[in-house]
Amino acid sequence: AKKQGRNTIRLYSSTIEALTQNHLKMEVLMRKALHENEFTLHYQPQFRADTEEVCGIEALIRWNSKELGMIAPDRLIPIAEETGLIVPIGRWVLEEACKQLKVWERNGFPVVPISVNLSLRQFFQSDLCEMIEKVIEDTGIQPKYLTLEITETIAMQEEMAIGVLDRLKRLGIKIAMDDFGTGYSSLKYLQSFSIDHVKIDKAFTNRLNSKEGRAIISTIIALGHNLDMKVVAEGVETPDQVSALRELGCDIFQGYYFSRPVPAKELESKVFYQYRQ
Ligand code: C2E
Ligand code: CA
Ligand code: CA
Ligand code: CA
Repeated sequence: AKKQGRNTIRLYSSTIEALTQNHLKMEVLMRKALHENEFTLHYQPQFRADTEEVCGIEALIRWNSKELGMIAPDRLIPIAEETGLIVPIGRWVLEEACKQLKVWERNGFPVVPISVNLSLRQFFQSDLCEMIEKVIEDTGIQPKYLTLEITETIAMQEEMAIGVLDRLKRLGIKIAMDDFGTGYSSLKYLQSFSIDHVKIDKAFTNRLNSKEGRAIISTIIALGHNLDMKVVAEGVETPDQVSALRELGCDIFQGYYFSRPVPAKELESKVFYQYRQ
């Protein structure tokens, strides 16, 4: 038993070592990626339920690493948060998205708000608001065309969040509550902040074909509407989901059924062309 114990410990510590090595390696590569422009953004359009016009675009980070190949955001973002690299990366995402919005505006494409995801770690930066103001100023976008997507983990840092969100709201920026219903005490946070959009997590959209799933979604929609918010359904993949969501009064759709997240050029040729002024 003793021997086994020692082996277990050794195995355990070498696993930790490997993980640490892995994180260190990722950190080094991510720093390099920032300087060598390996990050890109993909854009996923959102559509009005009533007219099916594009009414928003979510910017999502992509990393095609020379050394590691494509790294999914679900792997990249947690390490970026842990190492603090989310701060410069988050700034890059915001700048890039705002610049792209300006390019679309100059080229006569429809101007719709662009959504950028904010992570908790960015919220702890005391100069977050200044950073956002600076990016808005430098890129020259109108603040009303910027939506920041926050999660309940951000809202949970209540005192700080209220101050920061108030200040951003005063600038004219829109706030969306992302992944709604997957965290804790959702209701409490919805009422204490000035949230413009609530996004139904794709896990719920997935369950639309059950009576219970529909009940949850219709409750979120009623709640959102009673609080004067627009309700966005994420992860819309089938025509059945579209009609069910429409029937339940959902305002905005986002999902593979309409478009996957795609590079800017592809969004122009596949989605924007029909709206070109
Ligand atoms: P999220 O903010 O909830 O973004 C939506 C995710 O759902 C995206 O995954 C998108 O590609 C995916 N998705 C969209 N439509 C569908 C659909 O119809 N079906 C399915 N199954 N999935 C769909 P992605 O791009 O892999 O991003 C994953 C998560 O990584 C995001 O979830 C967000 O939390 C985080 N993330 C991505 N980019 C950024 C960023 O620039 N900054 C921060 N802080 N987080 C980011
Ligand atoms: Ca999001
Ligand atoms: Ca989401
Ligand atoms: Ca998510």
